[in-house]
Amino acid sequence: MEINLISDTFTKPTSEMLKFMMSAKVGNDVFDGDPTVIFLQDKLAKLFGMESALFFPSGTMANQTAVKIHTQPGQQLISDKWAHIYNFEGGGVSFNSGVSCALIDGDRGMFTAEQVRQYINPDSIHIAETRLVAVENTTNKGGGACWNINELIRIKSVCDENNLAYHWDGARLFNAMVVKNEMPKQYGELFDTISICFSKSLGAPIGSVLLGSNDHMQKAKKIRKLFGGAMCQVGYMAAAGIYALDHHIERLADDHQRASYLGEVLNRNPYIKKVEPIETNIVIFNLIDELDDQKFIESLQREKILISSMGNGKLRMVTHLDFTDEMLEIVIKVLNNLKI
Ligand SMILES: *Cc1c(COP(=O)(O)O)cnc(C)c1O
Repeated sequence: MEINLISDTFTKPTSEMLKFMMSAKVGNDVFDGDPTVIFLQDKLAKLFGMESALFFPSGTMANQTAVKIHTQPGQQLISDKWAHIYNFEGGGVSFNSGVSCALIDGDRGMFTAEQVRQYINPDSIHIAETRLVAVENTTNKGGGACWNINELIRIKSVCDENNLAYHWDGARLFNAMVVKNEMPKQYGELFDTISICFSKSLGAPIGSVLLGSNDHMQKAKKIRKLFGGAMCQVGYMAAAGIYALDHHIERLADDHQRASYLGEVLNRNPYIKKVEPIETNIVIFNLIDELDDQKFIESLQREKILISSMGNGKLRMVTHLDFTDEMLEIVIKVLNNLKI
């Protein structure tokens, strides 16, 4: 049995999810004719108290579309230096939207309203115009950290004062909500746009959604087409999202517990230098300086346990729907008996 802790994107649909997908009523979504896609979009818009939602093939495309509808070429967005939209979307914000990024040196992928204020450019012919603030919650490279909603509210005020759009990259948004015990509507009222992934911790094979006003989603639909993301009978995939919303949110607490347990076990072992604080399903740690990351990864691989490196000595494990208690026991045994 192979145990994959590289990412929560490796999950396979459960047989119940597959059954639900197979029985979806579909139509041509390019012509707004897929009832299952429309159902998912409406369900999410309602859940977040936002006007409209749009289905996308990937979180990257949803984020890139959000940046595109909020900015013009030459303008600038503000994000954390670890943000997915800056680091892991192929440089898309400059390619697709022609914008530059002002990168805040935050804490585990999060920053403060005061920092945002410092990064807003003055009105000048010499300097790029600041137009958008993008936050990520939970943070990916920041180890699944969750924002304090009060800071998000303070940043919203800074955005309002300075006429900036406010986007939330919520690839793992429901992980944050489960931990913080907050309601979707509390977030819906803060942001201009929110992206959500179903293919991460929610266990769907494909699919993301962008939420926003009717006007923004009208624009987003044109951009999605331009990016090549308008799809025909895609209700089969939207069905996986509907199933995940109904069945896979509460169980995220189990993933979080397993991640926290892995962190405790790592912390007790002499080969570990540091484990980052664990709030959700991501465990990031460093080995002591004498040890080689690659060799550590390979010694786990020999035991059929797969983990990944994030560079700069950071190693990562991500718990998910297909990582069971039985697998957790195996991983713990291996970690405690590792000869390196
Ligand atoms: C995974 C991820 C995305 C989008 O990824 P896709 O693979 O394109 O769906 C966006 N933001 C964050 C923080 C992510 O972790």
